[in-house]
Amino acid sequence: MEQSAEAVMEAASSHRWWALPVEAVADALDVDPATGLTGSAAAERLELVGPNELEHRPGPTLLRRFVAQFTDPLVVLLLVAIVVSLFAWWSSGESSVPVEAIVISVIVVANAVIGVWQEGKATRAVEALRKLTAANSSVVRSGRVSRVATASLVPGDVVVLAEGDTVGFDGRLMESASLEVDEASLTGESVPASKVTLALDGATEVADRVNMVMSGTFVARGRGRAVVVATGQSTEVGRIATLLDDAEIEPTPLQRQVSRLSRTLGIAVTVLAGIVVAAIVATSDVDSADEAFDALLIAVSLAVAAVPEGLPAIMTVVLALGVQRMSERHAIVKRLLSVETLGSASVICTDKTGTLTRNEMTVVAITVPTGTATLTGGGYRPEGSIEIGDDVERDDVERTVWAGATASDATLVRNGDGWDVTGDPTEIALVVAETKIRTSSKTAQSTTRIDEIPFDAERKLMSVLVEVDGADADWAERFVQITKGAPDALISRCTSERSAGGSRPLDATRRSQIADEIGAFADSGLRTLAIASRVHSERPPTFDFADENDLEWLGMVGLSDPPRAEAAEVIALARDAGIRTIMVTGDHPRTAAAIGASLGLAETSAPVTGADLATIDWSDEATVDALTASTDVFARVAPEHKLQLVQSIQRSGHVVAMTGDGVNDAPALRQADIGVAMGGIGTDVSREAADMVLTDDDFATIVTAIEEGRNIFADIRKFLRYLLASNAGEVLVMVIGVLAAGALGLRVADGLAVPLLATQILWINLVTDSALALALGVDPSVDNVMADEPRRLSDPIIDRPMWVTIVIVGLTTSVAGLVALDLELAGGLLGGDGDIATARTMLFTTVVLAQVFNAFNARSDRVSAFVKMFENRLLWAAVGVTVLLQVAVVHLGVLNRAFDTEPLTAVQWLTCWGLASTVLFVNECRKLIVRSRSKSVSDMTFAPGEKGPSMA
Ligand code: ATP
Repeated sequence: MEQSAEAVMEAASSHRWWALPVEAVADALDVDPATGLTGSAAAERLELVGPNELEHRPGPTLLRRFVAQFTDPLVVLLLVAIVVSLFAWWSSGESSVPVEAIVISVIVVANAVIGVWQEGKATRAVEALRKLTAANSSVVRSGRVSRVATASLVPGDVVVLAEGDTVGFDGRLMESASLEVDEASLTGESVPASKVTLALDGATEVADRVNMVMSGTFVARGRGRAVVVATGQSTEVGRIATLLDDAEIEPTPLQRQVSRLSRTLGIAVTVLAGIVVAAIVATSDVDSADEAFDALLIAVSLAVAAVPEGLPAIMTVVLALGVQRMSERHAIVKRLLSVETLGSASVICTDKTGTLTRNEMTVVAITVPTGTATLTGGGYRPEGSIEIGDDVERDDVERTVWAGATASDATLVRNGDGWDVTGDPTEIALVVAETKIRTSSKTAQSTTRIDEIPFDAERKLMSVLVEVDGADADWAERFVQITKGAPDALISRCTSERSAGGSRPLDATRRSQIADEIGAFADSGLRTLAIASRVHSERPPTFDFADENDLEWLGMVGLSDPPRAEAAEVIALARDAGIRTIMVTGDHPRTAAAIGASLGLAETSAPVTGADLATIDWSDEATVDALTASTDVFARVAPEHKLQLVQSIQRSGHVVAMTGDGVNDAPALRQADIGVAMGGIGTDVSREAADMVLTDDDFATIVTAIEEGRNIFADIRKFLRYLLASNAGEVLVMVIGVLAAGALGLRVADGLAVPLLATQILWINLVTDSALALALGVDPSVDNVMADEPRRLSDPIIDRPMWVTIVIVGLTTSVAGLVALDLELAGGLLGGDGDIATARTMLFTTVVLAQVFNAFNARSDRVSAFVKMFENRLLWAAVGVTVLLQVAVVHLGVLNRAFDTEPLTAVQWLTCWGLASTVLFVNECRKLIVRSRSKSVSDMTFAPGEKGPSMA
């Protein structure tokens, strides 16, 4: 009888599932083990029990995040200054409103709002990242297997488990084919536990419940099916785990470098601010506490303005935006840290199948003891015909392919006009081939699989034990074992071969013939797979590795798996960018060499094989490193060697990206600087160990991600170049202005001789740090980032040329601003006849406009600002906003009062624009010199007939 979902869910929490037989479990959860729940039943249960997730600790509230913005010591100082200024206003009773205190408060609050907004954006981006990499599970619903988010699993769901899957629920096993589960994370036990389906004693402890799978573990080997009994907080981990912390935004090395830099700059600026105060006091005849306070306020404002305190948060945003861009281009980066490492990658170790090749396998040739047949038709449609010579025994060909398909888990189902396929491409190819050549002859037998030994990349074999119920005279109603795998691994386990219905021993001549056949297939770039059998007169009591011996060779298939169209081009592009590509494959060395050659790899060196690696002395680091430095293709490699290869390449100072898809690849993925897993063919375990997941499994995506990584780095540098040069401009205006106050005519009868007022300094900081800075963060790259060598991770983010730029721009800004002031101000070198307020407004406006020009400067260290000048619309919008704000501050009465500004005439505005633009033109000259210098160096390097740059 149908039970209500509430009653089922209610009862679910009280069962001791391990003590119940499978049928009782299914009954209690009201599910048919064969077809699973229906979609609507699952949805109803999800509504009742909630998502299958562990709860998170709530993050800080908005208010807390806002308050946290005021903990910076300099901001605290500014807050103190506001209070003092209020007090001074109150005690003097001069004006009706405390203008200065209000203006500074508004600016401080505006800065805090920008800070909270930026941090919120960073947190949201990191949260989005978490969602992108959320786990999926294969669940049976209404009789169909589909991938759903693990978070949507409910008690009663039937889940299919395969090697490398993570278990994201507590479940009772209903089926186990050599299923072994790694439970180290839960029990600390490092050896995977073998799983069974039999009911256990009710008193069995968690660690011994071998008929259960627990959330937080993963399938190390084999296959299985389990029914979900607990999800989310009700699982064993859920019960022991305290609340999870929210995704922390761990600072990356680059962010730490930048934080350190802003601290150092903070100290430098504070010292300079001290000098400014001292100079103000010395030059302007300070004779009251009020004036002394004003001088201090200016110094504090200067320090607040010039210290790039928002940099780390802005960097997170730039990194996170980059991550978003990458995900649109099929690369999901799991940690922000990997983004910057990506930009430095100098070696990519990639597997071949599916990454460099299309992974669309087709059986094109079948070799049996009597000869070779070929098969036409490509792709996964079972349309094609067999071409077979007269002397080749057709039965042998059919039996070989039939046996291969029988030992496969792939499925091929007609769907309207097309075909639906599932499973491993190698096995799909076998099933497709079998469908193509199947005749109604005697090999069309029905079988029941009794047992299996799963494939693993170390043995490179897999076996099934089937009970045959068919018409083949030799195999009818017998227990037949079929073993398929890499021919070179399989042949050594064969003692005989089967042909034309008979069996004959494999002698040395035949073995060498078969070796030649394997070589011939491999040389033409075909992937090879051999099939053998063993007849058991009765059902063997156990079925394990020992049975993979004494086999009978049936034949071998050659599978074509052409390289991806753009792979060769991308490898060349990477090479030009100083990135070496190494193929590390499980495939045959000659197949690997043939494919490698077509991709422009291994032209100079022969492939090194897993057998070579097994005999090498790994402690002799120099020899190992020399080998990895000179080899482009490693073939028939066991996963354990991948780890050592990565370590060796890293020892040579490289930043290594390494791909992997199996369970055993996890250590190498973790060791690599950037572990790359496959979204399509990879296992959950490999995806968890990786730093980046390719949703299209394509090699080209790795290179795209590296390019994106370099772009992000260029973006950050752009940003730093802009912000530091802007800040340098502000500080230098004050320092030079105060020191040269006399020459500039900055003598004020009653007041301080300062070039800019505190409120003006804070205003400049506000407008430069907001719109323009943000627009630069998303500026498209004008530099060809793939033209340079990879950046070393240890390189400082600001190199010497960049410091030079910052100083040049800063100096130009300050000189331009002070010239504007001096042109207007009565007295001084250039002698105008205006008042100090107007002169200051001109200086103030020139400095703000200089930031506009500087934003264009900052887009590249070498490329002219006029290149792709109109591409970043956001930058132009930011320019518009900045200029409008400045017009407002100069022309609106209320802002005139707030910022002590005076309206400017058209000529004065033009003067400010003209002077500010020098920032652009001076820097254009510098870029011109840099470009012509590097051109002459590269001309020297590549001058025909010369061996290298001649500096003579
Ligand atoms: P790559 O490491 O580049 O992805 P690969 O997929 O060929 O290459 P493996 O998956 O380790 O590497 O496979 C190694 C060999 O094992 C293959 O060349 C093939 O002969 C054999 N093999 C692959 N898949 C199966 C399978 N499902 N059953 C039996 N043998 C297989």
